[in-house]
Amino acid sequence: MATCAAYLGMAGLSVKVVERRPVVGGAAVTAEFHPGFRNSVAAYTVSLLNPKIIRDLRLHEHGLRIVERRAQNFLPASDGTYLLAAEGQTERHIAKFAPRDAQRYADFNRELDAAADVLRDLVLRAPPNLTSGLTFKSLSEFIKIGGLANRLRRTPAEQVRTLYDLITKSAGDYLDRWFEGDLVKALFGFDAVVGNYASPYTPGTAYVLLHHAFGEVNGKKRIWGHAVGGMGAITQAMARSAAGAGVDIETDAPVREVLVERDRACGVALEDGRVVRSRAVAANVNPRLLYTGLVPGAALPPAFRTRIEGWRCGSGTFRMNLALSRLPSFTALPGSEPADHHTSGIIIAPSLHYMERAYHDARQQEWSREPIIEMLIPSTLDDSLAPPGAHVASLFCQHVAPQLANGRSWRDHRDGVADLMIDTIERHAPGFKASVVGRQVFSPLDLEETFGLTGGDIFHGALSLDQLFWARPMIGYADYRGPLRGLYHCGAGAHPGGGVTGAPGHNAARAIIADRRWRAV
Ligand SMILES: Cc1cc2nc3c(=O)[nH]c(=O)nc-3n(C[C@H](O)[C@H](O)[C@H](O)COP(=O)(O)OP(=O)(O)OC[C@H]3O[C@@H](n4cnc5c(N)ncnc54)[C@H](O)[C@@H]3O)c2cc1C
Repeated sequence: MATCAAYLGMAGLSVKVVERRPVVGGAAVTAEFHPGFRNSVAAYTVSLLNPKIIRDLRLHEHGLRIVERRAQNFLPASDGTYLLAAEGQTERHIAKFAPRDAQRYADFNRELDAAADVLRDLVLRAPPNLTSGLTFKSLSEFIKIGGLANRLRRTPAEQVRTLYDLITKSAGDYLDRWFEGDLVKALFGFDAVVGNYASPYTPGTAYVLLHHAFGEVNGKKRIWGHAVGGMGAITQAMARSAAGAGVDIETDAPVREVLVERDRACGVALEDGRVVRSRAVAANVNPRLLYTGLVPGAALPPAFRTRIEGWRCGSGTFRMNLALSRLPSFTALPGSEPADHHTSGIIIAPSLHYMERAYHDARQQEWSREPIIEMLIPSTLDDSLAPPGAHVASLFCQHVAPQLANGRSWRDHRDGVADLMIDTIERHAPGFKASVVGRQVFSPLDLEETFGLTGGDIFHGALSLDQLFWARPMIGYADYRGPLRGLYHCGAGAHPGGGVTGAPGHNAARAIIADRRWRAV
C-alpha cells in the first residue's frame, strides 16, 4: 500500500492511506513480542523487494539496510548428515553424499537463473488483459501481447520449454529430473511448498519454486537476506518515503465499506463512521475480502461476485517467534557459538517425501505430525533484536489445515501445535526446547484475525496457474483495475502475487496515473 501511495504522491496526487492496524506494513512489520525481544512478526526474510522500487522510493535514504546471510541454508538430516548451502561451498557439501548432483548443480542454477530472468522482466509490467470490442484499450493490450511474444521470441527454445515446465509441472517432477540426493532436492523443494498448501508433487508447485527465485539482495540474484531492524524496516522506510511525497497516513482506521455511486468507487466509509471521499480507491487486501467484505455485493456484476467467492486462499502456514537464551546446537553440526549456519534459513525437512507426507498428514489429520519448518535466527545478523547473548528465531512451519473441521477452532489447538513445532526442532538440536524463554504463535486463524489474511493465506490467494498473471485476480481484471471504475488492486492479490515485492503497488500506481491522464478517474 505504501508503495502505491508513494508513487501517487510523487506524481503530485493528493493521497490518504487508511490502515486498520496501529502500524502500517501489513504482514511485513517488526514488534516486541517478549520483553527485550523484537522480531519480524510475520514475513521474515527479504529477496523479492524490487530494486527499482528501492531506488525510486529512496528506501536506503529512508533508513533501509539489507544484509546478506553468511550461509543461505542449512538442512540437517536425522542420520547426522547435513547440507550447507553457502557461496562457493554448496557443491562441495553436495559432493559429500551425491557426487553426480554436485556436477549438475551449476547447470541447474543456470537453468533456473534464466527462467527467473524472464519472470523478473515481467514483474513490473501489467499482464495482458482480456478486453472486448475494438477500442483503444484493446489495441494497447494487443501491443502488450506483442511485447510478451517478442520477449519469448528472443528466448532460446530450450529456455521456453523450461519455463513451461516450471509453470505447469510439480517441483518434485522437475527436481527429480535434475538430482538424486534427498537433501539437495529438499533445498529447492522447500521453496515450492512455502505458503503453498500442497505436496511438492502437486502439479504447479514448480512455479512457486520459481516465484521465490526472482529476487536479489544488494544486486546478488536469487539470494535471501535480512532487513536490519526486521521486515518492519522495509515498510517503515516505504511509509517515510510516502509521507515525504505528501501522503497522509492514518492508522487505527479500519475501512467498513468502499463507497460506490453510479457504478464507480468514490471513497470509503470507516468503522468509526467517518467518510473519506476520493476519485480513486486502491485496495491491498485479499481480493476475496475486498469483494465479499468491503464492496457492497449489489454494486458488482453477479458473475464477478460468484467467481471471486471461489478465489482460492489458504496457506498451510503456522508462524512462531521465539525468544532464545542461546543458539541451538545441532546434532549434525554441534556448537552453540555463532557460526555461518546459524545465520541461514535452517530447513527441517530432509527430503521431498518428508514434505509430501507432511502435506498428506495435514490433509488427513489437520496438521502434520512431522512438520516442515524453516527457522531463521536474525539476531545472528542484527544485534538490535535481542539482549546481548540472547537470540530471536522466526519459525515458518507447514503444513497445517487453514480451517479445522467440525466447528473446531485453532484457538483450542494453537498451543499444542506450537509445542509440536518446538519438539520437532528439539529432535535435531537437543536442548533447544529448554532455551525457549518466550514465544508468539500465529495459527492460520491468528494470521487472518491479526493481519486480515483470508484463510491465513500469505500470498492473498494461491499461486496456481488459474490465479496467476493475466488471471490474477481474474481474467479481464489483470490490469490492476477492478470491475468498478475508480477501484484498483494494489496488493498481493494482483500480479505478480505474494511476497514483499512492492511490485503490485508500483504497477497499480501506474494504472491510476494513466487513468488520471486520460481523465478516466
Ligand atoms: C507468516 C508470513 C510469512 C511471510 N514471509 C515472507 C517472507 O519472508 N518474505 C516475503 O517476501 N514475503 C513473505 N510473506 C508474504 C508477504 O508478507 C505478503 O505477500 C505481503 O505482505 C503482501 O503485501 P500487501 O501489501 O499486498 O498486503 P498485506 O501485507 O497483507 O497488507 C494488507 C493491509 O491491509 C490492512 N487491512 C485489512 N483490512 C483492512 C480494512 N478493513 N481497513 C483498513 N486496512 C485493512 C491490513 O491490516 C494490512 O496492513 C509472508 C507472509 C506471512 C503472512
